[in-house]
Amino acid sequence: MSTNSRPSISVEDAIDIIIRSTAHLEPETVSLVDAGGRILAEDIVAGADIPAFDNSAMDGYAVRAADITGATRDRPARLAVRGEVRAGGDLLRLDDPESAVRIMTGAPIPPGADTVVMVEDTAETDGAVSIYDAVPMGSNIRRAGEDIPRGAVTLTAGERLRASEIGVLASLNASTVRVARRPRVAIISTGDEVIEVGAPARDGVVRNSNAYILREEVRRTGGEPTYLGIAPDTLEATRDLLARASEHDVIITSGGVSMGRYDFVRDALASIGFDISIESILMKPGKPCVFGRRDSTLFFGLPGNPVSTQVAFLQFVRPALLALMGARKRDKPLVRAILEEPIDKKPGRVHFIRGVFTIENGEFRVRTTGPQGSGILRSMSRANCLIILPADMRRAERGDRVTIQLIDHDEV
Ligand code: AMP
Ligand code: MG
Repeated sequence: MSTNSRPSISVEDAIDIIIRSTAHLEPETVSLVDAGGRILAEDIVAGADIPAFDNSAMDGYAVRAADITGATRDRPARLAVRGEVRAGGDLLRLDDPESAVRIMTGAPIPPGADTVVMVEDTAETDGAVSIYDAVPMGSNIRRAGEDIPRGAVTLTAGERLRASEIGVLASLNASTVRVARRPRVAIISTGDEVIEVGAPARDGVVRNSNAYILREEVRRTGGEPTYLGIAPDTLEATRDLLARASEHDVIITSGGVSMGRYDFVRDALASIGFDISIESILMKPGKPCVFGRRDSTLFFGLPGNPVSTQVAFLQFVRPALLALMGARKRDKPLVRAILEEPIDKKPGRVHFIRGVFTIENGEFRVRTTGPQGSGILRSMSRANCLIILPADMRRAERGDRVTIQLIDHDEV
């Protein structure tokens, strides 16, 4: 049975409880082609030097530094050209003094040579090359292992694989890689008034935007969403739909967690054996917010208003999904920004205010998107950040520096 008030906890405590409830999902092996955006589940130790051999960083001539000492444009060193080595071509040696090998970028340095002079500082005529610049010994040579030495721990578990990490793995000849399995996430809507997109309209209904928001947020975070439908506002129907979701790593519902007479999610959850550790969080929007667990299945009961659903997803579900995958970075970036308008608030709860930031003269500035009602979904769609005002704050003035969370950035 619901009581008339529920214990509320802070946003930080809620995140703490949630993250402590997560255990890493088992890893799986995927092809490097499909590994983009996944969370690495193993440390990658280089099995070879990258580059594998000393090679030229320039098109030019491989020489011995001793042979070009003091060379200038007026008094060039003149060296016999003994041949040419191309990238991917056969190795050549530089055996004779006062000689050079024409060399292309990426070609192996001929044994005997210790320096490369770039072609722009040379002129070749009649089988010999004039060197116009006495570059220091070792110039323009990329050393074996200078990028990644064999045996180095190059990438570590918990990193997100971006294009550059995929490139590193490719150069280390990894055709497959161990990554965290994607969390399987069940999404359930609740409410007699909620109808599906495409269904005929009736009086008093709202379209099921939450299911779409949540599917997209789950997908973007790296999870695998499955939408299970709308639970009508009865305890039995809510319980039945929740029970069907129990094979998932995470269950998310929207709506039905307030104190109304037809809010059944909490009781339905308790009736099928979930341990409820959060019932209300000191934030706005999104105060009614349920978190529970049964074995390894995590449950999030998000509020029904679409803005509240999305804000609560970003603050709690997203970090949980990333923690399940063992991701090292879980937080959206926080930066300080200059507030362009005053904001009044009641003390007691952290406010997440939809904002638009701009960067002017290298400084972040932020304004609100206007009316902040939690039913106003367009305010979320106009926003590129959330202005976070601490629980005890009463008013923020124009010109104050406030913390903003960048929600429009994929990197984590
Ligand atoms: P509730 O917490 O169930 O009372 O829902 C709060 C508000 O959110 C109500 O105005 C609902 O109509 C609305 N709402 C609930 N679920 C959805 C949904 N899936 N899509 C859009 N709005 C919803
Ligand atoms: Mg409802």
